[in-house]
Amino acid sequence: MTTAEDPRTDRSGPAPGLPPHATNYGAVNGGSNGARGGLKAAGLPYALPGQRTISGSRHPEATVDAGHGGGSGSGNSEERPLDLAGIGIGPANLSLAALAHGVPGLRTAYYEQGAGFHWHPGMLIEGATLQVPFLADLVTLADPASDWSFLNFLKAQERLFPFYFAERFHIERAEYDAYCRWVCEGLAAAGQETAGTEREGAGPGLHFGHRVDAVRWHPELRLFEVDFTKLDADGSAPPGRSYARNLVLGVGSAPYVPEPLRALAASAGAGAPVIHSADYLEHRERLLAAGHVTVVGSGQSGAEVFLDLLRRRPAGREGLHWLTRSAAFAPLEYSKLGLEHFTPDYTRYFHGLPEPVRDGLVPRQWQLHKAVDHETLAAIHDELYHRTLGGGWPDAVITPGVAVRTAGRVGATRVELHLEQEQQNVRTRLATDAVVLATGYRERPLDGVLASLQPWLVRDEAERVCVDEQYRLVMDPSVKGTVYVQNAERHTHGVGAPDLGLTAHRSAVILNSLTGEERYRLPRRTAFTTFGLRAEGSFATGAPGVAEQADRQHEGFRPLRMS
Ligand SMILES: Cc1cc2nc3c(=O)[nH]c(=O)nc-3n(C[C@H](O)[C@H](O)[C@H](O)COP(=O)(O)OP(=O)(O)OC[C@H]3O[C@@H](n4cnc5c(N)ncnc54)[C@H](O)[C@@H]3O)c2cc1C
Repeated sequence: MTTAEDPRTDRSGPAPGLPPHATNYGAVNGGSNGARGGLKAAGLPYALPGQRTISGSRHPEATVDAGHGGGSGSGNSEERPLDLAGIGIGPANLSLAALAHGVPGLRTAYYEQGAGFHWHPGMLIEGATLQVPFLADLVTLADPASDWSFLNFLKAQERLFPFYFAERFHIERAEYDAYCRWVCEGLAAAGQETAGTEREGAGPGLHFGHRVDAVRWHPELRLFEVDFTKLDADGSAPPGRSYARNLVLGVGSAPYVPEPLRALAASAGAGAPVIHSADYLEHRERLLAAGHVTVVGSGQSGAEVFLDLLRRRPAGREGLHWLTRSAAFAPLEYSKLGLEHFTPDYTRYFHGLPEPVRDGLVPRQWQLHKAVDHETLAAIHDELYHRTLGGGWPDAVITPGVAVRTAGRVGATRVELHLEQEQQNVRTRLATDAVVLATGYRERPLDGVLASLQPWLVRDEAERVCVDEQYRLVMDPSVKGTVYVQNAERHTHGVGAPDLGLTAHRSAVILNSLTGEERYRLPRRTAFTTFGLRAEGSFATGAPGVAEQADRQHEGFRPLRMS
């Protein structure tokens, strides 16, 4: 077992700040943690997708086995395959690991290329908060009684009362990161408890410093082979392999740089700092030392970086530009009914729409997920206003509707941005000493890791993978295992795909699908809005669609025929 920076070796008692049960796996199984009635201590009391007795011969390429071959300690053999192998440990797969912990006998392992759990470390700006309430932790919206809830984290840290009096619905981002690391450590400790016992392997198996390079479907074994590289601190990189009946991809998103700025970003090592906002904190001191800084992009990250720089630079000598090609520095849609776009009901509705309709909707919904929250916009205005109190005007330029056409370095220390304002039909140049590209993120492409599954993957008109209601990749039926995806399904499930508020629910849907049982009871209705005029059928739980319920509630209701 490898885990976050603090691998635990002492199994003699509870570790400080860990849930009390973390050293007592049996108590977890029998506890309140989502595991529902009549669960057996060992062995799965149900069939998992693709499950069968493995009696085939050993695959000739399988050089890593039983957790020790190749020196990796994190692989497993085809004789004892995992029920589920996860790729990536961000909030999505960590949520799944936390909720799966209540399922007895489920053999899982998750592989993360990073050395430990770190949630967007470059953007843990002091005071920056989550944009969702703390209830959108890893488990609560699927199982409020889970041991891995944010409130239980506070309890373990003896901070419940201060939190209660703080009356904070939106916790600091750094606190969410600390909470997730607490869950990692707790799950790791619980897994270690099973080492050497008959339940060995029943822990979630969180393996950090493991990059998954490829997965393959092995038709004879009816298992997935998962090839990974163990990225050791000493620079060695031993390969490893695991066998699993099912996979879950939680590889998240990666920083995105638009084409006109790519060459500039690629030359970042030389001269004037040009960084993506994802690396902001690492470079903040360099940015503060620069005479003039330009922030490009008007999403939440751009706003937070601009505000942080503004607050830290001397009044009257701010030397800041904030540019965006968007028409305005627009506020995030945060009305209560607007937020119902982040419910399972809307997800179900969206999934039922034809592909061209879905593709047309997502860009039109930008204000649901790409804009800036009201508090940050207000804080920026407050800070600027404050700087006028003594007379004068801050040296900060904020201009929407400006596109960066191209950019390049000028000499050793400057960057030149070629700008265009379409409405005025004006082009100009801006010389600056540093650039922060707050140009967003894109879903990490799955093609690399899934390359060998290509022949079996069903694709849509735009050549994207098809994802069904239960977050399964649609594949040729000859592949008996299932590949689930988390946060790679915006094109099929809508703007809520990366949202933390839907994470626990999606994990529960996946676990219900994986076990073929209702391990987690999910709500039948989640929004006051009834999306659409036609029922979109069941969604994952077998529960009636919301429109079906609306039909029942309003007997006279007749779906309209659209001509
Ligand atoms: C700065 C920032 C703030 C955000 N704040 C909010 C918010 O307040 N509320 C909200 O709802 N959403 C927020 N989001 C959006 C979303 O919640 C996050 O992006 C979240 O981290 C998504 O979780 P994830 O697990 O899907 O992906 P990630 O957190 O990106 O994790 C994926 C992990 O997979 C690993 N990985 C990738 N490929 C491999 C491989 N081949 N082998 C092994 N490991 C691999 C990566 O190293 C990474 O650690 C925010 C996003 C950003 C960037």
